[in-house]
Amino acid sequence: MPRIDEKLLPIYEDVLRRNAGETEFHQAVEEVLESLGAVIAKHPEYIDNALIERICEPERQIIFRVPWVDDNGHIHINRGFRVQFNSALGPYKGGLRFHPSVNVGIIKFLGFEQTFKNGLTGMPIGGGKGGSDFNPRGRSDGEVMRFCQSFMTELYRHLGEYTDVPAGDIGVGAREIGYLFGQYKRLTNRYEAGVLTGKGLIYGGSRARTEATGYGAIYFIDQMLKTRGQSLDGKRAVVSGSGNVAIYAIEKINEFGGKAVACSDSSGFIVDEDGIDLELLKEIKLVRRERISDYVRLKGERAYYSDQGSVWEIPCDVAVPSATQNELNGNDATALIRNGVIAVGEGANMPCTPEAVRLLQQADILFGPAKAANAGGVATSALEMQQNASRDSWTFEETEARLAAIMRRIHDSCAETAEAYGAPGNYVLGANITGFVRVAEAMQAMGVI
Ligand code: GLU
Repeated sequence: MPRIDEKLLPIYEDVLRRNAGETEFHQAVEEVLESLGAVIAKHPEYIDNALIERICEPERQIIFRVPWVDDNGHIHINRGFRVQFNSALGPYKGGLRFHPSVNVGIIKFLGFEQTFKNGLTGMPIGGGKGGSDFNPRGRSDGEVMRFCQSFMTELYRHLGEYTDVPAGDIGVGAREIGYLFGQYKRLTNRYEAGVLTGKGLIYGGSRARTEATGYGAIYFIDQMLKTRGQSLDGKRAVVSGSGNVAIYAIEKINEFGGKAVACSDSSGFIVDEDGIDLELLKEIKLVRRERISDYVRLKGERAYYSDQGSVWEIPCDVAVPSATQNELNGNDATALIRNGVIAVGEGANMPCTPEAVRLLQQADILFGPAKAANAGGVATSALEMQQNASRDSWTFEETEARLAAIMRRIHDSCAETAEAYGAPGNYVLGANITGFVRVAEAMQAMGVI
């Protein structure tokens, strides 16, 4: 039975009924509602005026057919999604995910999380998410381009720099954003740079956007460690995943004097006691788009690859789950605790199961939830929109300094809210309440929307 305040239970039950079978969405809603008991005690009007019900229902959901032709002339059909969740704080903002697991429930959970995450950044962006069950793995550049063009041929009519601004997520990086932007530009005959973020530097992208999610997560973890008089210096880290978030999390861990000894992909994980060789990892994952098992073939000796067991069995001080949702379960949390972990920061969206979060919090491990810890990516997207709107382009140093300041602010507002609600150090409560209150206050001011 969920630990939701009894006044909120009927709202949760409605969500279950209205969104049958969408388990990830249920999980995300449950986690937020669990934090809101104390808020409605202070603000009974949020119940009376159905504010929480409204926040749990997306403003608009778009589902569409994406037909495309492969290199052999065969026609394929995929399903495209865009869930425009909440625009109280700004235009819908959130990434696109291309992965075979994508369905409406996954996109809804991501859009719901994004709404509060974006609220937490303090920037003028609403929440949305989209994507497709298209699998880019093994597809040629030409096939990916034709898919992206077909996807945008439907989606473009729902976008705009003041309406909805997508970016990347799993399976959508600089290459895909380029193809999507090119098609948007052709269809609209407008050079509307602010309609997509994560663009290449030469056509309106922001410096530090690529690095921002991973860097931001490590800034957040550093802030959490400081509250206990600790730092990343000399710490041993395990980072799951080997995409954009993981790679730049590892880079920042190294800069802070720590050492990341393991990372993974969907087939297995590698351990390198010398510290992950970042140049080699980037070459394998970003340039060649190969599997992580290649690392050991190329590096040899002290590194090993395993497709058995879990990367969370590797002892570490700091864990940064940066692969995908529900990748770190109760058993993994128990292993981390047994091996002496002191901090866990979520680089991916909802990578820890509710049981894992509970166990980590009960063991008094510093735990940074995704909404806060991985908000650096979307915050830097908002900085990209800002540069596009003013036709400006900032240096890497300036952009990164702003990112670092934003992550500090997010950390402090979560910590202060947790403290104010009698749960010092509970960043889950702090993030959920801070994000929620910002969205709720804006909606309140706008009447029944
Ligand atoms: N997909 C990223 C996230 O989960 C970034 C979204 C964006 O930059 O709009 O926050």
